[in-house]
Amino acid sequence: MKKMLLLVPALALILVVGRVALEIPAVQDALLARGAAGMALQGDRTQAANDSLRVYVCGSASPLGMDQAQACIAVVTPDHFYLIDSGAGSTQNINRLRLPTGRLQGLLLTHFHSDHIAEIYEVNLGSWVNARPAPLTVYGPWGVQEVVKAINEGYRMDRLYRIAHHGEALLAPELGVLAAQPILVGEVLRDGDLKITAYMAEHPPIHPAVGYRIDYRGRSVVVSGDSNVSANTVEIADGADLLLHDALSLPMVTALASSLEANGRSRQSKIVTDVIDYHASTASLIELSAQSDVGMVAYYHLAPVPPNSIAESVFMRDAPDNFVLTSDLMWFELPIGSDQIIVNQP
Ligand SMILES: [Zn+2]
Ligand SMILES: [Zn+2]
Repeated sequence: MKKMLLLVPALALILVVGRVALEIPAVQDALLARGAAGMALQGDRTQAANDSLRVYVCGSASPLGMDQAQACIAVVTPDHFYLIDSGAGSTQNINRLRLPTGRLQGLLLTHFHSDHIAEIYEVNLGSWVNARPAPLTVYGPWGVQEVVKAINEGYRMDRLYRIAHHGEALLAPELGVLAAQPILVGEVLRDGDLKITAYMAEHPPIHPAVGYRIDYRGRSVVVSGDSNVSANTVEIADGADLLLHDALSLPMVTALASSLEANGRSRQSKIVTDVIDYHASTASLIELSAQSDVGMVAYYHLAPVPPNSIAESVFMRDAPDNFVLTSDLMWFELPIGSDQIIVNQP
């Protein structure tokens, strides 16, 4: 007891001395240098990766989101890096995940709703600065040329500023201009061991909207973009290891719409009600998993993003054990030569 009584003032003294020391500029500078060194050493977290297919959630939210970035999924192997969509907030998550933007090979768009395309230019800029060796190609259904052309034109001044400031040796002008590549359903590209296939999504009245399946050395992931469950979904997901699917909780959306209506916010209530018919309900995804052989189903593009653990339980109601609710910065590792899917929480 006596020792304890002596310990308390000693700890208090250490805290006071520490607090005072942090006010001294030389101490601050030393800590700053240490922090900066730490930042400079932060590299590509995937460089040392074993050979595996890695899937990162750089945006888990729909526009009915809270504190989470909008749609963005990264697919990474030791030799590949593709992004699917780039909604608001996704670039910050790409940086937090320390993804290898210098070797980004393409941005695949599912459709052109703003929550999927808001940060196309930020993705372009980040990878340009990090020495991406070729212009960034933006793949997407018909209309991608128009979107890419507008972004290239709208950010022309930004590119001129940055080239003038940092020099052409650092920022080669031709590498700052996006390239558009319209796609059809079917095989989009083959890049060594990696194959990307597009399939038609069901997101009326938006047409065409697509989802993508990526196959790499026997492992596979399907990323839906925005879609109801359709026969196409069942077909493309069959045999896939991981299905990342747009998910809507009908109990939550219905409760939200009713509450908005009851509080005189009928415009917002209508908008919330309208989203029901063009996103996959959790019930429809549970049904899908019974109809197709899919290893794991991960809900993303959450409508709405559950704000607490009770809401998460509602979202995951009736979901089988192989279902996962994603959040920003979650990532999945699919080692080659196994059926394993390692879920890494942020
Ligand atoms: Zn959409
Ligand atoms: Zn969306």
